[in-house]
Amino acid sequence: MGGALQNRRTFLKNGLLVCLGAGGVAWTRRAGAQFSSENHRWGMIIDLNRCTGCQSCVVACKLQNRTVENRFNTEVLEKETGEYPDARPYFMPTQCNQCDDPPCMETCGEQAIFKMENGIVATDWSKCTGQGDCVDACPYDARFLDARFGGRSDKCDFCLHRLEKAMVPACVEACAPKARIWGDFDKPEGEFADYLKKAELISRPPDRGIETSVLYKWIARGAS
Ligand code: SF4
Ligand code: SF4
Repeated sequence: MGGALQNRRTFLKNGLLVCLGAGGVAWTRRAGAQFSSENHRWGMIIDLNRCTGCQSCVVACKLQNRTVENRFNTEVLEKETGEYPDARPYFMPTQCNQCDDPPCMETCGEQAIFKMENGIVATDWSKCTGQGDCVDACPYDARFLDARFGGRSDKCDFCLHRLEKAMVPACVEACAPKARIWGDFDKPEGEFADYLKKAELISRPPDRGIETSVLYKWIARGAS
């Protein structure tokens, strides 16, 4: 394995989940147990009314996860809603949505993909052969084979290595307008709890009938 591969991602070894951060520091937890010392079910709410398209989250993610050239764990797409003369542009941050019943997981013949109890869909790189069925199966185009990491299947994992250190994902930290709101579905607090209570939240449109841990607040009518 090359040096870059040693630097990050998730491996299962002797029943222990090993998550390697960008600095090469490893943390181990029993497979299937929660990351971090307490139980969590992590989620992200993205308020499309707040996103300015500044791309700071994309840069922060790239620096953190060091994916192969021209592939990103998160992107910000330019979109348009409404009809002329009422059409308006907006920006849509995208990444793996940590699906409740992940289509990518079903297709993996190596059982390398698993859903953690904290809601994160992780990939065991010690099992991943880079065959790529999971890439084709993801309806959100969130996965890719990462040549920088031995051709293994890569995607956003909510910065597992940062969560272990009680840090939020890099994209959340980088977002000045707070368009990415981080929280715990099981113990919602603060703004995350307010959004869950008051906002109409949807999975990434168009609706694919999949429950996800990334939710969006759609653009308010009349917003400009
Ligand atoms: Fe898998 Fe794609 Fe769902 Fe992420 S968004 S869990 S990669 S199917
Ligand atoms: Fe949007 Fe925040 Fe990303 Fe900037 S950092 S593009 S405002 S989500």
